[in-house]
Amino acid sequence: RAAVSKYKRILLKLSGEALTGDADFGIDPQVLDRMALEIGQLVGIGVQVGIVVGGGNLFRGSALHEAGMERVTGDHMGMLATVMNALAMRDALERSNIRSRVMSAIPMSGVVEHYDRRTAIRYLTSGDVVLFSAGTGNPFFTTDSAACLRGIEIDADVVVKATKVDGVYDKDPVHDPDAVKYEQLSYDDALDQKLGVMDLTAICLVRDHDMPVRVFNMNKPGALLNLVVGGREGTLIDR
Ligand code: UDP
Repeated sequence: RAAVSKYKRILLKLSGEALTGDADFGIDPQVLDRMALEIGQLVGIGVQVGIVVGGGNLFRGSALHEAGMERVTGDHMGMLATVMNALAMRDALERSNIRSRVMSAIPMSGVVEHYDRRTAIRYLTSGDVVLFSAGTGNPFFTTDSAACLRGIEIDADVVVKATKVDGVYDKDPVHDPDAVKYEQLSYDDALDQKLGVMDLTAICLVRDHDMPVRVFNMNKPGALLNLVVGGREGTLIDR
């Protein structure tokens, strides 16, 4: 079954923003249902799927800090927000009959399992989707860094980052019609902050461990499946 897939195991990064749909805050259950279907297609062809969810649709430590809150407290709230998103995503997956588990970097007994790498790999191998929540468990990091970290830890074949645009562009494609999309970028190109691919910690991590990253548009139906079977979706970042 897995023969059609280019990848055996992937780490999918979903930003909190991706869960809001047209609203600017919160979680849109219809968006979650659509994502669940797309993820189900991967599971259906035998791909093992780990997911790191963001929390920016609810809270971001940096924004709370700007509003006057202590930064670390804000980051703790941001990490808790990712747990809420992961619970909502698990709910949507299970409604679509896709077996899934939520693990948290911060122990939260009775709500979700504490992250354990070997257990996570066991779940993935048995076909369960594993949602990694609470980021890295540490303040001053992002869920992009958590996605790269977990991707490397679980030995994923690729980290795929879902965004609202179809890859990485030389300028902001939303505001600039002349923006050109990159088919491929090196890690060093991606470190150019003007491109805004991911934060530097995340890129350094994938660079040091040779983990390829693909940035693609999750709002495009079928794009996730297409890239997993080897289609040219979005932008590939590698050596
Ligand atoms: N966060 C953190 N440590 C981590 C991951 C996340 O402190 O390892 C906090 C941080 O405050 C961040 C918030 O959680 O702003 C939500 O994560 P992120 O902004 O990465 O979410 P996204 O932009 O993907 O929705």
